[in-house]
Amino acid sequence: MPRTSHDAPDNLPRARHWRDDAACLHEPPATFFPTGKGPDALYAKGLCGPCPVRTACLTHALTFREDYGVWGGFDEDERAEMLAEARKAAEKQRRLDREKEKVNASSAA
Ligand code: SF4
Repeated sequence: MPRTSHDAPDNLPRARHWRDDAACLHEPPATFFPTGKGPDALYAKGLCGPCPVRTACLTHALTFREDYGVWGGFDEDERAEMLAEARKAAEKQRRLDREKEKVNASSAA
């Protein structure tokens, strides 16, 4: 049975969303948009540690390129680094695939 969403303006039943199980469900959103990397940021990351939907939260932030805040326990700089690493890995894989295609093409000729 779908629960009602806390955000739904009409309060009609909606499918369950990962945010419904978030450890931060009742935290003020500003908690996750700290200034700098000091104690406020560490506090936000500490809340994320045991969160049962941490992976879904991080996936959302990476997929939708959330530019600011702590998502899934990682701040914007850490997520930018993850995305840069993923881009580098994808570029390397494409280069390897192209070299493999060349080798296959030359051995077939
Ligand atoms: S991982 Fe952190 S920001 Fe994401 S839902 Fe959980 S507590 Fe909230």
